[in-house]
Amino acid sequence: MAFEGLSSRLQNVFSKLKGKGKVSEEDVNDAMREVRLALLEADVNFKVVKEFISKVKEKAIGQEVMKSFTPAMVVIDIVNKELTELMGGAQSKLAKSNRPPTVILMVGLQGAGKTTASGKLAKLLQKQNHKPMLVAADIYRPAAIKQLQTLGEQLKVPVFALGDQVSPVEIAKQGIEQAKQEHHDYVIIDTAGRLQIDESLMEELKQIKDAVQPDEVLLVVDAMIGQEAVNVAESFHHQLELSGIVLTKLDGDTRGGAAISVKAVTGCPIKFAGMGEKLDALEPFHPERMASRILGMGDMLTLIEKAQTTIDTEKAKELERKMRKAEFTFEDFLEQMEQVKKLGPLDQVLDMLPGMGKMKGMKNLNVDEKQMARVVAIVKSMTKEEKQNPELLNASRRKRIAEGSGNSIQEVNRLIKQFEEMRKMMKQFSSMMGNKKQMKKLGKGFKF
Ligand code: GDP
Repeated sequence: MAFEGLSSRLQNVFSKLKGKGKVSEEDVNDAMREVRLALLEADVNFKVVKEFISKVKEKAIGQEVMKSFTPAMVVIDIVNKELTELMGGAQSKLAKSNRPPTVILMVGLQGAGKTTASGKLAKLLQKQNHKPMLVAADIYRPAAIKQLQTLGEQLKVPVFALGDQVSPVEIAKQGIEQAKQEHHDYVIIDTAGRLQIDESLMEELKQIKDAVQPDEVLLVVDAMIGQEAVNVAESFHHQLELSGIVLTKLDGDTRGGAAISVKAVTGCPIKFAGMGEKLDALEPFHPERMASRILGMGDMLTLIEKAQTTIDTEKAKELERKMRKAEFTFEDFLEQMEQVKKLGPLDQVLDMLPGMGKMKGMKNLNVDEKQMARVVAIVKSMTKEEKQNPELLNASRRKRIAEGSGNSIQEVNRLIKQFEEMRKMMKQFSSMMGNKKQMKKLGKGFKF
C-alpha cells in the first residue's frame, strides 16, 4: 500500500535512535534531517514538512526527551502525535442530518474514482443499517449512468436516473424528492467529472449545490497524483467549500504525500480512504490509526472492526471448537482461508499488524496471494472423504490431486505435511490449554 517507502525509512531512522542509550541534541537533529528527507520523498508538501519538522524538533529537544530513560520512544511518540495532528487529529465523521435524508454530493475529476466511491459509500452505510439511495447526475460520460446502475444492482441499492437529457440540477432535485418519499436516510449524488478543472464544470456543481443544499460535499481525489491531488483539492475547496475529502487508490504504489499534506494545506479533512477496486474497499479515515500504520505500529483497531463485520462469528466459534478438539479437517482449513480472505488483500491485512510492515520485506514470509490460490485449488481437488480424513491421501490420490489442481506432487506433499504439522500443533496446544500447570511451567512469569 501507500507509505511503504516512507514507512520503512522512518522505521530505520527510529531503530537507529533506539540503538542509542542516550540521545543527544545532535542525534535528534540527525534523525529529523532523515525524517525530513523521507517526507519530501513521499511527496509531502515542502511547507508542511518544514513546519512539521520544526514542531517535532521543538518538542523533542525539550527537557523530557533528554531526561527520559527511553528517549527514542519519546521521539517516536512525538512524531506519532504530530503526524496524527497533521492529518486532522480526531476522525472527521460523515454528517447526519436531523431532517433526513442526509444529502451527499460527490465531486471530483474524471477517473478519480467518484462513481466507485459513491457505490462504496452506499455499501458502508448499508452495513451500518442505513437505507441509502444513489443518484446518477453525470449525464456527460456515456457509461456513467450505466456504471452506477450496475453498482446499485450489485448492492441492492436503488439508483435514481433520468437519462442524459435532463439537467443534473433537475435530476438531483427529483432524486432527493423520491428518496424522501421512499424513506431513504442518505442520498449520494454522483456528479460529472472532467479531465481538468474547468469553469463550466465548477459552475454546474455550484448550481447543484445551491439547488440541493447538501449536508456534505465530498471531493473524490486520486492519491496516485501526489502533490497534484493537493492542488486539485485546493481549487475545489476554493470554489465549492468542500466538507470533506475521499482519498482513493491508497492501496496503490503511491508515496502517500497527498494523505499527509491535504488537510494541512486545504484545512479540509479526509473522511474516507479508498483501498482497492472492490466495493468494500473504503475505510473511514482515522488520522491516529493512519499515523500508526505509517510508523509501522500497525492498526489493530481497523483490523478488528473489519473482522467484526466480515467474519462469520458462528463459523469462527465452530472452527475454534474443532481446533481445540483437534478435529480440524481440510474442509475447515478451506473455510478458515476463505474467512481470512474476506478481510481484504493479504498484504493490506499484514500492514495492519504491528511490526509486519518490516517483516514483509523478509523473503521467507510468504504472503503471496497466488500461493494462497494454489493451496485452495489443491484442497478443492480433494474428494469430500479425503478432506475429512487426510490419512486417506496415499501416493496415487496425491498424484490425482496434483494433476487435477495443476500443481506438482511436491506442492501437494508440502501442503499435506504443513497441514499435519498444524494439526499436531493444535493438539499440543489444546492439551496445554487444558493443563494449566504445564502452561505455568512453560511460560514462567507469563500472565494469562
Ligand atoms: P470516476 O470517473 O471518478 O467516476 O472514476 P471511477 O469510479 O470510474 O474509477 C476509475 C477507476 O479507478 C476504475 O477502474 C476503478 O476501479 C478505479 N478505482 C477507484 N477507486 C479505487 C481505489 O481505491 N483503488 C484502486 N486500486 N482503484 C480504484
